[in-house]
Amino acid sequence: MTLLLVRNVEVFAPAAVGRRDLLLGGGRILAMQPHLRIGVDTKVIEGDGAILCPGLVDSLVHLSGGGGEGGFATRTTALDGREALRAGVTTMIGALGTDDVTRSLADLLACARALAACGLSAYALTGSYRVPVRTVTGSVRDDLVLIPDFIGVGEIAIADHRGSQPCADELARIAADARVGGMLAGKAGTVLVHVGDAPEGLALLHAVSDRYPLPSAQWHPTHMNRHRQLLEQAPAWVARGGSVDLTSSTTLALIEAGDLPAAQALAELLGAGVPVERISMSSDGQASLPHFDGAGRLLSLEVASVHSLLEAVVQAVHRHHLDLATALASVTSSPAAIWGLPHKGTVAVGADADLLMLDPDTLALQVTIASGRAHDFRLAAESGVESLTAA
Ligand code: ZN
Repeated sequence: MTLLLVRNVEVFAPAAVGRRDLLLGGGRILAMQPHLRIGVDTKVIEGDGAILCPGLVDSLVHLSGGGGEGGFATRTTALDGREALRAGVTTMIGALGTDDVTRSLADLLACARALAACGLSAYALTGSYRVPVRTVTGSVRDDLVLIPDFIGVGEIAIADHRGSQPCADELARIAADARVGGMLAGKAGTVLVHVGDAPEGLALLHAVSDRYPLPSAQWHPTHMNRHRQLLEQAPAWVARGGSVDLTSSTTLALIEAGDLPAAQALAELLGAGVPVERISMSSDGQASLPHFDGAGRLLSLEVASVHSLLEAVVQAVHRHHLDLATALASVTSSPAAIWGLPHKGTVAVGADADLLMLDPDTLALQVTIASGRAHDFRLAAESGVESLTAA
């Protein structure tokens, strides 16, 4: 077993822990002490007081590509694992989106598994925007029980002209299958809900929670910062047991149309008393960011980047004056809990060795450690990423 000693880092687990040395081996954190003395030969990374935090947990990445809302030429490409390493995203939840015709769950699973070659942890969601839900085995429940990579369902689209306009009964059936499939397989079975621009927002989720004995925590609505009226629905949803996700990737055109930057939305929700344990941020990486006019005509389209996630943390700290531990929680411990991944999003003995080293002043990414393998970006730009051959 190759051992890696990370020396003299300021640990945010994401809560502040203090100055520590860490010993990594077998893809796990083996020890964490103020001063570690190792008798055997180890590779050493000198932290020099850098911040060490969990690798980011990205609740929504279109791993196999997305888009296509402007025709075939607007389909986006699959995620390159080296980009995720450079963005500090070590765990990601992959999903299909609008297009479940030319894109398949089989391809999504293949893309997720390919990322393991970079030491990344990629999970996947069964289903897509469409209802009735497309699955691999023919059922949400069977997909969750039989296919290890699937940890939930999504993105199911509501309040969006691109969705299937499902009714409350259809949504309840999806959540019930996700819940039971998750229970049987020891998974969270969380349903990621794409919430669109339409003014009804979360009304359908409230209707399901009113009518059926399903916990609101089964749902995780995303894009809650797409306009102020939707963000204002978040506290009431969390108050009845739900959680919310904020999208960190945005464009100038979307901000001009009312989209709130994720860092600002995070600060506002925390200010309104929403606990950070119920808030995650995700990049929506590789999604298209289409901008439609009032008549539903496509005006422009850009590609979302996984880099936006760490950028949102930096903005939350530097622009909105959140403390680092809280800002980090929204992209580490909170999503790990929401998705039922206790070995992710934390710096603790026994946890997975998915870690970031950040510049203590600028929070710029210096080193990404994924499954115990270090990629040092303090070196020349390209040489940081280790060879991507399967371990
Ligand atoms: Zn979406």
